Amino acid sequence: MKTKGLVQVYTGNGKGKTTAALGVALRILGHGGRVGVVQFFKYPVRSKALDKEGAFRALKKFSGRFRVWSFGGGFTWRVAREENAKAVQKAWKKCCELLRDSKYDLVILDEIHIALRYQFLKVSDVVKALKRKRFSQHVILTGRGAPQAVIRLADLVTEMKCVKHPFHRGILAQQGIEF
Ligand code: ATP
Ligand code: MG
Repeated sequence: MKTKGLVQVYTGNGKGKTTAALGVALRILGHGGRVGVVQFFKYPVRSKALDKEGAFRALKKFSGRFRVWSFGGGFTWRVAREENAKAVQKAWKKCCELLRDSKYDLVILDEIHIALRYQFLKVSDVVKALKRKRFSQHVILTGRGAPQAVIRLADLVTEMKCVKHPFHRGILAQQGIEF
């Protein structure tokens, strides 16, 4: 049977969006496939902070079949708008490359909904690129507040709903759980 590439959306205010996407990456890698991840609003490539992320450390062991590109220096409200805008443009360029690259069985656009929400990116451009992607390529978009146009186009949409989070009891990010 021919693979039907799916557009999947993991959104909502609960924890688990990025880790769910990386769970799918693990499945694809386990079957010998190739995965590309573009991270919006995260540390630049080769930064030490990126190396701290345990999931990436582990997945890098798949000898080049798992690649990550990160753009931006943190959260939108801490960084000047122009700086964020530049980082988002670079990240989006990389997304477009990956969506045209037949090598990648799965492309993860991590936190792209945040770029859309703050209007660093046009929803119509993202929808257009997703419509043009190769038939068999899977794509996962993550981040809170997925726009309606992306939800309409997607084949699968899951909303993570926060019922409880340890942060609300003062337990901060922990190695192995958050990174
Ligand atoms: P993860 O990367 O653990 O799968 P996520 O992708 O769903 O989480 P993001 O929105 O990317 O979550 O937020 C990243 C960080 O914020 C995570 O470290 C997570 O634990 C924390 N976080 C997520 N949801 C909440 C929440 N409802 N309250 C407090 N912190 C949260
Ligand atoms: Mg996330």
